[in-house]
Amino acid sequence: MSSHLPTRREALKAAAAAGITVAMSRLPQLAAAPATPAPAPTRPAAPQSFAAKASMIGMPISIAPLARQDLDALFDDMRQRAGVTALFPFAYTHEPHRCGVPPAAGFHGGNYGIPHLQYYHDTPLTYADMRAPEFGDVDVLARVIPAARKHGIATFAFILEDNVRPAAVPHWEALYTVDHHGRRSDRQPGGPCHNNPYYQAFTLGLVEDYARSYELGGIMWGSERQSGLLNALNLSQSNGVDPGRTTCFCEFCQKKGRDLGIDVERARQGFGEIEKFVQASRAGERPRDGYFTATWRLLLAYPEVLAWANLWVSSRHALQAAIYRKVKSVNPALQVGWHVWHNLSFSPFQRAEEDFAGMTAYADFLRPALYNNVAGSRFVSFVDGARHSVFGDLPPDATLEVLYQQLNYHAEAPHAHLAATGLSADYIERETRRAVDGVGGTATQIWPGIDIDVPVAAGASHCTPEGVQAAVNAVFRGGAQGIILSRNYTEMKPENLAAAGAALRELGVIPR
Ligand SMILES: [Zn+2]
Repeated sequence: MSSHLPTRREALKAAAAAGITVAMSRLPQLAAAPATPAPAPTRPAAPQSFAAKASMIGMPISIAPLARQDLDALFDDMRQRAGVTALFPFAYTHEPHRCGVPPAAGFHGGNYGIPHLQYYHDTPLTYADMRAPEFGDVDVLARVIPAARKHGIATFAFILEDNVRPAAVPHWEALYTVDHHGRRSDRQPGGPCHNNPYYQAFTLGLVEDYARSYELGGIMWGSERQSGLLNALNLSQSNGVDPGRTTCFCEFCQKKGRDLGIDVERARQGFGEIEKFVQASRAGERPRDGYFTATWRLLLAYPEVLAWANLWVSSRHALQAAIYRKVKSVNPALQVGWHVWHNLSFSPFQRAEEDFAGMTAYADFLRPALYNNVAGSRFVSFVDGARHSVFGDLPPDATLEVLYQQLNYHAEAPHAHLAATGLSADYIERETRRAVDGVGGTATQIWPGIDIDVPVAAGASHCTPEGVQAAVNAVFRGGAQGIILSRNYTEMKPENLAAAGAALRELGVIPR
């Protein structure tokens, strides 16, 4: 492998060659650069036929370095180490880690650009609620976008839906879900309700604001949640949530449910029965007829909970479609796509909820999170949770083996070693190919997110340069059109980011 790092001129040429097709077309430096073909393949093993199509090398990043640091040095580093062509700042968040600061009581967060109030209607949120105060008067998007462009980097606003209600912004409360006991949620698996008209108005206002006010390449939105039924059954990488706080029965969800012919009270009772079942399982009470039968019997008795799950899933997809239409109505050239929660890698149940084929009508791209190292401990957490409901009859090893078979993963680690080993590069390739096949025949592109130093507990699998190279190769062997180096630039060790760049050079995606 070559250790040569590209000069800035080479990097700019490469960006034009790789061609972030739409996003970059408005960037004069790139549009003027000649379309230099990627270097010819030099290694037979390199999956060149896929790599030649690659157009996106994305980099998510928290806000603090963008607000405070020398941007030229930052972007030079990204370009030289890994040929980054698109930046994904967490542009709107009330969570400190996405801002890039330590957790603190009273943290506010919000929009790290400037909210332009003409785009926000019918929401209780005020300018002060929405505007993030952490960096004074700095408009981070306005600061970043032209500086990134100089380096051949487009900017995509990454709006990752918050799960934790911001205590410092009380007006957010009216946008959050209400559990089956009638209590307002304040954290995952609750969150803002997709049927809440205030939240819809805020979200559509935000994406319109970004689309009109900033020279973006696109917008990526994400929601790391699933239907309440799966939450209630403890089928989540976020094992251990309160089964009494798993879905929404707010007035807007109730009305939508009634309009769809769902018996709302039966649905509510069903969630109450599932809550009791899971609480008893956690207390060590084995159901008389076994866990699987008890689970299935609940669904027979309360099919309304399945209808309520479908209501949740279809409501989120409807919001995604509305986001897509809103952005495209402002500027059809902007690329709009979706971060896909890592939980799909462990849950055949959530896979059923998120059919990629059905999303292509409102997705220019999908970014499935395929973090293979941290996947180990997250999968263990999923297995442990699932054994409090549908998999309670099986020991952990058998549960994991069943899930491997259902998910089509081969030769992965047994339960006892999984956290320390992580999943293999083969998992990344299989999940990438599944996504590519899912959107097959459409214009939707697949840009998997790969694991570069996603934080893990002590003793869990850690990234290595060799592992990162294998992950990059797996993505392109799986047929992806791009890659998102994940999950946050500030977490990445320089040698591991450079390893991603080395693999991209070997593949011919960026120049040697
Ligand atoms: Zn609701």
